[in-house]
This record gives sequence, C-alpha cells and structure tokens, in this order.
Amino acid sequence: MSEIVVRVSQPRLQDEVVDTRAHRALVTLRPNFYLNGRLTGDARERAIDFLEREYIDKGRALFGRGPSPEMLNDLRKAVGGTIANFSDEEVLRIICFATQRVRTFGNVMQLRQGRYKWAKIVSHRGPARPICNALNETFFRVRVAAEVLEEIAALPVADQGYFIRQIIEIGQTEDFVQSLRLSIDNRIVPESFTEKGFCIPPLHELCGCRIEGVDKEEVEGRVSANSLF
Ligand SMILES: [Zn+2]
Repeated sequence: MSEIVVRVSQPRLQDEVVDTRAHRALVTLRPNFYLNGRLTGDARERAIDFLEREYIDKGRALFGRGPSPEMLNDLRKAVGGTIANFSDEEVLRIICFATQRVRTFGNVMQLRQGRYKWAKIVSHRGPARPICNALNETFFRVRVAAEVLEEIAALPVADQGYFIRQIIEIGQTEDFVQSLRLSIDNRIVPESFTEKGFCIPPLHELCGCRIEGVDKEEVEGRVSANSLF
C-alpha cells in the first residue's frame, strides 16, 4: 500500500519539491536583486515574493508548458502599479529572466562548494539566439563565474540592472558572437569573457540554457589529448 503511494507521488514531487539551492541563492541575491527597470521599491519586493513562492521554492518549470495565463495574472495582481499593463510577453520575460538568474547563481555556488572546476553550458531548443548556439556544449571555469556573479550581486540594484542589460545587449551583437566563436578553443570559454560577466546563462531574457558540473577529466583530459597533435 505505502509503495503505491510513493510511486504515485513521485512525478508530482519532481515538479514541486522545494529547490533549496535556488532558495538559498535568492536569500543571498535578494537585497540588490534586479528584475526590471520599472520594478523598484515595494513593487520589486512583491514581485520577488511571488517569484520565490511560485518559481524558486517550487522549482516550477519555466519552459515547455510554461506559466499559465493565470500565473501571469497572479504576478500582475501581486505587484500592481505599472506592471498591471505589461503584456504577457513582458511579464513572462521578467519571470523567466529572474528565475534563471537565481537558479544559475545557486548552481554555480553549489559547484564551487563541491570543488568543481568546470561547468558545461547546455543550450535549449526554444528560441535560442546565436550566442546560445555558440556556447552550447562549451565549458567555463566555475571559480571565475562564481566570483563575478558575487560581484554583480553586490552592486546596488540600479547599477546591477544597468550592468546586466549591457552584458545581454553586447552578447546579442554579431561582432561579439563572432569574436566569441574565434576565442573558444577546445570548447573552453576563455576566462577573459567569464570574468567580465559574459557567457554565463541566462544569455538573454527568455533563455533556457542551463549549466551542469563536469568532471575535470572531461575538459582537461580532452585538451591534453588534443594538444598532442
Ligand atoms: Zn538562450
């Protein structure tokens, strides 16, 4: 009897289990966390509360089925003010971008704590941009990413917003993507990009790129094998 109950509840658990890693990340990020230029003061606080409740703690899926129209309306209601008139697309952008940033921050910090040296970027099928395609299956240094993410998190919210928007905007330009492609060697993103805050997902507002920790051998073993030729 109890076995049946466990089996039945498993799929639900995957969807709704509290994502403690992301929860901890949001606690760290919260004081200066940037959401959108028009969400400041109390509106920003209310939006973060909503995201924490609905997306961070529940680990709710952003892509695939995506947030329902009710969810978008719930955020509009929770925040009020100008956001009440935002289109579905704009509300969705706010939710996805913020949630992905929190999840990445949590992942990177956990990888550093677990002494992972490298992380891999895995691109997404949805509306992937050239930068996402250029970075698919490439590796970056966990320590370098963790340090720059902490620096960004410490910026006052307005500066943080400015910085993040700059990074995203530059990352979408053809020149940038081309220089990135030329700089990636053995699928490794040069530290000079990572340390400036580039090439760390999400790479744009509706980016579904994710990261995963990889064994040192997968990156460095391959590099030394290749360098023999
Ligand atoms: Zn993307």
